[in-house]
Amino acid sequence: MIIGVPKETRAGEHRVALVPDAVKQLVGDDIEVRVQSDAGSAAGFPDAQYEEVGAQIVPDAVAGADVVLRVAPPDDGEVSALAKGQVLVSFLEPLDQPALAQRLAHQGVTAFAMELMPRITRAQSMDALSSQSTISGYRAVLLAATRLPKIFPMLVTAAGTLSPAKVLIIGAGVAGLQAIGTARRLGAVVEAYDTRAAVKEQVESLGARFVELDLDTGDSEDAGGYAKAQSEEFYAEQRKQLGARAAKSDVVITTALVPGQTAPVLIPADAVRAMKPGSVVVDLAAAKGGNCECTEADQEIEVDGVRVVGHTNLPSEIPAHASQMYAKNLVTFLKHLVDEGKIQLDLEDEITSGALLAHDGAVTNEMVRGKLEGGA
Ligand code: NAD
Repeated sequence: MIIGVPKETRAGEHRVALVPDAVKQLVGDDIEVRVQSDAGSAAGFPDAQYEEVGAQIVPDAVAGADVVLRVAPPDDGEVSALAKGQVLVSFLEPLDQPALAQRLAHQGVTAFAMELMPRITRAQSMDALSSQSTISGYRAVLLAATRLPKIFPMLVTAAGTLSPAKVLIIGAGVAGLQAIGTARRLGAVVEAYDTRAAVKEQVESLGARFVELDLDTGDSEDAGGYAKAQSEEFYAEQRKQLGARAAKSDVVITTALVPGQTAPVLIPADAVRAMKPGSVVVDLAAAKGGNCECTEADQEIEVDGVRVVGHTNLPSEIPAHASQMYAKNLVTFLKHLVDEGKIQLDLEDEITSGALLAHDGAVTNEMVRGKLEGGA
């Protein structure tokens, strides 16, 4: 079996699908790994490191490969370059780009979308949304810390006492919890809010205060552990109450997402204007429209002296470790799919069928098919 790792082409994408250590775990009698020249350079892995572990460096890693591993979804030209019967494993933004799923199906590709990996214990080591969110949560705090004209920890010095930064984190999923831990380690006073009351204990165990809002969040979690969308009245009341807390914070980090939907707006423009000059908002939902009304995707803007940071690909800003974790997710998934040196598709298996997006000329995921039929 030949595995191909092309160089990523999406603007700003510095990650690579396999790092040399991951290649080492795959190459053997049955498996050959081809890596496009320069594919790992932006993440800090030069071609020589891949060669040392037995990969072949090639000008084109897609032609002739049985399995193609990518980070970002392929563009139109890259989809056309895929051959019938090839297996593609990548982030494919299935709910945001259903037309891409259809193109892959028409191309006869068997495509697995890492976003569709079931969030079950058995698939934890294949869960790339979690691994990359971990990096995002960490990076968000570092961005905030370097933009804020203050330091995070309390300091008592001969030159006076500095009070600790106050950080408010909205959304305590994987990224939010990592942000809490990172901000706490830097010495900030942290509080966090999530509509899923189940996370209160996790927030507190990281040394942050769980913010209780006067809102009924009874039915806030779906069977998969994700947040459910709330009514517009709920969001309006949430904006009012969170806005008041944001005004007292030096840093607000927002991570609130509802799968398959644009992000809820939780920090309106007037709440940003009510924050102290010099304060920072880092919006991790920027790629999905933003939790802050002022967020502009991939921009850092100033609103009345408040910095609003809308980077949309934070994992790519820490590409070595983000790639290392993503590659581990891919290797574990491949080992799950491969038997005796070949991909064996067991469609009865929850992990295989869960992550499958296109196969045998058809889009296999029901939610994506629904979006296509709805004209999305
Ligand atoms: P996500 O990225 O979809 O959302 C981030 C957070 O935003 C979530 O905690 C969500 O509840 C919160 N949110 C949504 N709307 C909000 C609002 N209006 N106000 C405040 N917060 C809001 O979520 P995620 O981080 O990918 O993970 C979500 C869940 O999945 C968690 O329960 C997590 O523990 C679970 N999970 C399970 C596994 C596993 O079992 N293998 C792996 C990863 C995650």
